[in-house]
Amino acid sequence: MYGIIASSVLFATASAVVTNYTSVVDPTNIKLPDIPQTTASTFQAACAWTAPPVPIAASDWPTSWQPATSNGMNGTAEFQALYNSIDWTHAPQITPRTLSSPGVLNTAGYDLVNDPDCWWTATRCVTPKNSQVLKDIFACEEPETLGLTYDDGPNCTHDGFYDFLQQQNLKASMFYIGSNVYDWPYQAQRGVKDGHHIAVHTWSHPMITTMDNQNVLAELYYATKMIKHITGLTPLYWRPPLGDIDDRVRWIATQLNLTAIIWNLDTNDWAAGTTVTVEQVQQNYKNFVSMGANGTFANRGNIILSHELNNLTMSVAESFIPQFKQAYKHVVDVATCMNITNPYVENSVTFPVFTSSAATSGGSGPSGPSGSSGTSGSSSVASSIHINTALIVAALIACLFQV
Ligand SMILES: [Zn+2]
Repeated sequence: MYGIIASSVLFATASAVVTNYTSVVDPTNIKLPDIPQTTASTFQAACAWTAPPVPIAASDWPTSWQPATSNGMNGTAEFQALYNSIDWTHAPQITPRTLSSPGVLNTAGYDLVNDPDCWWTATRCVTPKNSQVLKDIFACEEPETLGLTYDDGPNCTHDGFYDFLQQQNLKASMFYIGSNVYDWPYQAQRGVKDGHHIAVHTWSHPMITTMDNQNVLAELYYATKMIKHITGLTPLYWRPPLGDIDDRVRWIATQLNLTAIIWNLDTNDWAAGTTVTVEQVQQNYKNFVSMGANGTFANRGNIILSHELNNLTMSVAESFIPQFKQAYKHVVDVATCMNITNPYVENSVTFPVFTSSAATSGGSGPSGPSGSSGTSGSSSVASSIHINTALIVAALIACLFQV
């Protein structure tokens, strides 16, 4: 089914290391089989296990939902070569964080006034202090624009939700956990087939500032590698679980050419029914609808954090999406609202520039990555960027073969 062998070279910034993720999947020609987990809109039937669309050799990957150095991955020649290709003498000398209690980061003793590490968990900092790291994205720059994001997928029960987004002609940024892609590969492929913007959300969803350099690198590397393996696409964007990022983690992500996408509005949907009530989450959504209508985002848009974590978070999202479309001029994925036409290393799937997206959607949604077939965009601006990227990649491939 997947006849095209695609490999990629990741080397887009001066400090990024060279990686060589590979895949036999053509992201522009994904065909989902007619099996329950890819077609069911009723939830339980969707989670029956089926053999993956491409082989996944367990010995080649970390253990699902264990740290990415598990299963001996930190000792492989591949990972050692990656680790040793990085000049760690330039890494910020920041000691990994600790927990004050299970699940709670210890900010005691941290300089909250000067915030030397731009530690989001402590201060909500999104402007790095270190000049050698890629800067966070935290709000759509286009006015009256809502940046739609869903974390923690792919969820084996998400097909009904993705059907809904399709009916609403909406694309979102989907932050996929490597372990979930491992467990639910067809669901990851559906995200690409539907034209959503796929980004990385680590391998095992840790509080990543607590990890040492090797584990941080492994969490990002193996999650990105798994997404490429299953979907044929290598994301250039990621989101730290719980927003937990500082300049050390940013520096390591930068070595892999991964830019962080945070948020400036939090639905808190993941906690619904536990530490907050469903009504409180619904009130958050109502507030964000109101902000779209009352001019709060007249000069700059937002990025809203929500989850495809479970049926509750997805159903609450569905109930408010029509109101979002009424209250905001544009409801789009983050790649589109930030004019990122190439959110992947590969140039086979591109996203439209914002203006062309707005024009083709009639102001009610994006055109996404050139339709559900995932073929290249047609605007002249997108095409020129497309060509430049291709040239850069081609030049780098040439460099590699000379080494
Ligand atoms: Zn998450």
